[in-house]
Amino acid sequence: MQFDVIIIGAGAAGLMCAATAGRRGRKTLLLDHAAKLAEKIRISGGGRCNFTNVNARFDCYLSDNPHFCRSALAQYTPQDFIDLLDRHGIGYHEKKLGQLFCDEGSERIIAMLAEECEAAGVERRMGVAISSVASREGGGFALEASVGGLACESLVIATGGLSIPQIGATPFGYQVAEQFGLPVTRLSPALVPLTFHVEDAETFAPLAGVSLDVEARVGKARFRENVLFTHKGVSGPAILQVSSYWEPGMELTLDLLPATDAEAWLEERAGSEQLIANAMAEHGWPKRFAEAWLERQGFAGRLKDLVPKRRKQLAESLHNWRIKPNGTQGYKKAEVTRGGVSTKALSSKTMMANEAPGLFFIGEVVDVTGWLGGYNFQWAWSSGHVAGMNC
Ligand SMILES: Cc1cc2nc3c(=O)[nH]c(=O)nc-3n(C[C@H](O)[C@H](O)[C@H](O)COP(=O)(O)OP(=O)(O)OC[C@H]3O[C@@H](n4cnc5c(N)ncnc54)[C@H](O)[C@@H]3O)c2cc1C
Repeated sequence: MQFDVIIIGAGAAGLMCAATAGRRGRKTLLLDHAAKLAEKIRISGGGRCNFTNVNARFDCYLSDNPHFCRSALAQYTPQDFIDLLDRHGIGYHEKKLGQLFCDEGSERIIAMLAEECEAAGVERRMGVAISSVASREGGGFALEASVGGLACESLVIATGGLSIPQIGATPFGYQVAEQFGLPVTRLSPALVPLTFHVEDAETFAPLAGVSLDVEARVGKARFRENVLFTHKGVSGPAILQVSSYWEPGMELTLDLLPATDAEAWLEERAGSEQLIANAMAEHGWPKRFAEAWLERQGFAGRLKDLVPKRRKQLAESLHNWRIKPNGTQGYKKAEVTRGGVSTKALSSKTMMANEAPGLFFIGEVVDVTGWLGGYNFQWAWSSGHVAGMNC
């Protein structure tokens, strides 16, 4: 049971790393405790896997060191993954904003990665529990696993983050990092719906299902996408994006008319008999939302009743609606975990731990968190490839 490379975690990063290492002629074992391969790929992108983003650049990632991901992203680019799909004859399409989805669904991506591993001679074992990891005298690592003792020269940790524990997420990777003295940054759910305080929830819970085009802002982060009102708070791509920047106590600001100068629009209609709530339909607002929102902001009646000062106030509220979420929906609903194994402890060129030769960390377990839209898979492919070339 001696291998050149053992990779723990057969998700996106682990599969890419295994195929790359195997192709280099390394005797590679890929292990996972789950029964099914790559469940996160399977459920990703609504079953269609948003496998990359053509605009993936270092500044689309959050990390204590935002420059850390540059090297891996340059060594294995979105085009490299697209070329891989082309070689397998797999079709894809761009939905929006550079987001590429698989025409045939996520299963095809999993099958492609499994084929790549097989062609590279990778041995893969599912349903394997690892009870301990230790370094061996003279180099390398020894593992105690449910299949017996295992040994390897290089050990790659690709166990992902904490999100969606119901399909196998564990803190295993962070625990191994700590065991080897590598720091782990603060962890929090990211790309996650935000929840409302009781008083906001009472107003907006009945509006669950309403979706609007907004610009969402948290601190300096701003994203123009849709917001979706839910029974518990707000979700939708605009909210998931800013949630990665949100900290407890921070305000969320929504520009509810991002394409319009609200004051000028209200001025144009200053003499109108129309109810303000009805006029909002011009901007795609459902009436029930317009009525509830306007009432909450203290506006009612007809457009002609708005004196200039009130018009200004309404315009200000429309462009800068401030909400103070009281939390997130947590790891059960988060697409990713923000934070992870500190980039300070890793080489950005190889993903190897600086102080633990032969030990690598890749994918989401590392403190590199991408935006929504294919960026996280690109990080998994890039970091997996880089480690695969060096382990
Ligand atoms: C609902 C949802 C949709 C998503 N959609 C997209 C999308 O469309 N595009 C995108 O870019 N990103 C998407 N993501 C994020 C993306 O899935 C992850 O960032 C990516 O899968 C991370 O890859 P990874 O290999 O690091 O971890 P994972 O893919 O999570 O793989 C980790 C593997 O490690 C295994 N493991 C964990 N603990 C242990 C242990 N103790 N012992 C052995 N094995 C272990 C797990 O079973 C798993 O197979 C989505 C996430 C979710 C939850």
